[in-house]
Amino acid sequence: MSATLARGTHAADKSFEALTIERRDPGPNDVQIDIAYCGICHSDLHTARSEWAGTLYPCVPGHEIVGKVSAIGGDVSRFKVGDMVGVGCMVDSCRQCPACDEGLEQYCQNGFVGTYNGATKDTPGHTLGGYAQRIVVDQDFVLQVKHPEAQLAAVAPLLCAGITTYSPLRHWKVGPGQKVGVVGIGGLGHMGVKIAHAMGAHVVAFTTSDSKRQAALDLGADEVIVSRNPDEMKAHANSFDFILNTVAASHNLDAYTSLLKRDGTMVLVGVPEHAHPSPNIGVLIFGRRSIAGSLIGGIAETQEMLDFCAEHGIVADIEMVDADGIDTAYERMARSDVKYRFVIDTATMG
Ligand code: NAP
Ligand code: ZN
Ligand code: ZN
Repeated sequence: MSATLARGTHAADKSFEALTIERRDPGPNDVQIDIAYCGICHSDLHTARSEWAGTLYPCVPGHEIVGKVSAIGGDVSRFKVGDMVGVGCMVDSCRQCPACDEGLEQYCQNGFVGTYNGATKDTPGHTLGGYAQRIVVDQDFVLQVKHPEAQLAAVAPLLCAGITTYSPLRHWKVGPGQKVGVVGIGGLGHMGVKIAHAMGAHVVAFTTSDSKRQAALDLGADEVIVSRNPDEMKAHANSFDFILNTVAASHNLDAYTSLLKRDGTMVLVGVPEHAHPSPNIGVLIFGRRSIAGSLIGGIAETQEMLDFCAEHGIVADIEMVDADGIDTAYERMARSDVKYRFVIDTATMG
């Protein structure tokens, strides 16, 4: 075991504090990574503040991890010391169920091991995430980063926000000739706009924040709708092929399903603390519209997404924060005051 500096919290209502945590020595299949940057996902906030059931403390969140390989186990062939790598939301899965066989580890029927708050034999019995200076991960759950090194910090959010938006856009075959909505222009949503634009779709951003109107156009949206204005919403009735809804809070889904064309689909990726009001079934039936869900993406698809983003020059728009700024970043994220992802510089943990 070796000690590393981290930031974590001991209870839902406690601030983040400096912790020293243990990482296992790299086993034969392990990659030890010196973490340079870690993105702050809204799921980190939901977990650290116990907005979802089952948070284990101490909680060290963080699943948008990038850094460099600092040691490898004897059986590691795909990575060498010095490689730029990433780790996303999973660090293991059962590897033998039908989902794992198909490379869909996120749907592992025996439950994947989350990068934080997952079951592990390592101390303290649950996984501790990327708000730390070092992590040790099985090579099968480590991704190669091919972006220029200068972009490394802005690559971090791709490991969750990037794959969580890329996967449904691919699965529902979004492309040229389609009108695609992205709801909620936060960490996930801003990546959804960039990726859907790169896939060739006509992209419409939905935001509750008037201040993001121009910014969303700059991200690559063809149009922006401020969803608080009913007239702007009404003008787009029955016109969308696909809507990706990333909103982190409970809201009225009918406002969006009614904008879908016949046979259109709205995919929910946000996981709010409180349930959405039940959707109007008539809106779904009259138009054969669907509401679906999607969870991150598998390891192979995460690599595909990273390579796609490297080819298209896509990174996240980030605001760098020091390790002491995590609580403030959470408060701002909870108010939708983020353009568009906070990223922790782990060098400030010392
Ligand atoms: P985020 O950065 O906080 O962005 C969420 C955005 O939703 C906000 O910036 C805001 O955008 C909009 N919003 C917030 N409250 C709203 C409200 N009451 N009504 C309408 N819009 C509202 O969060 P994130 O990191 O992108 O994560 C979004 C959600 O996805 C979280 O629930 C997170 O846990 C979940 N998530 C799911 C997966 C998955 O695999 N399915 C993966 C990662 C995260 P505007 O200012 O533009 O309105
Ligand atoms: Zn996340
Ligand atoms: Zn499995």
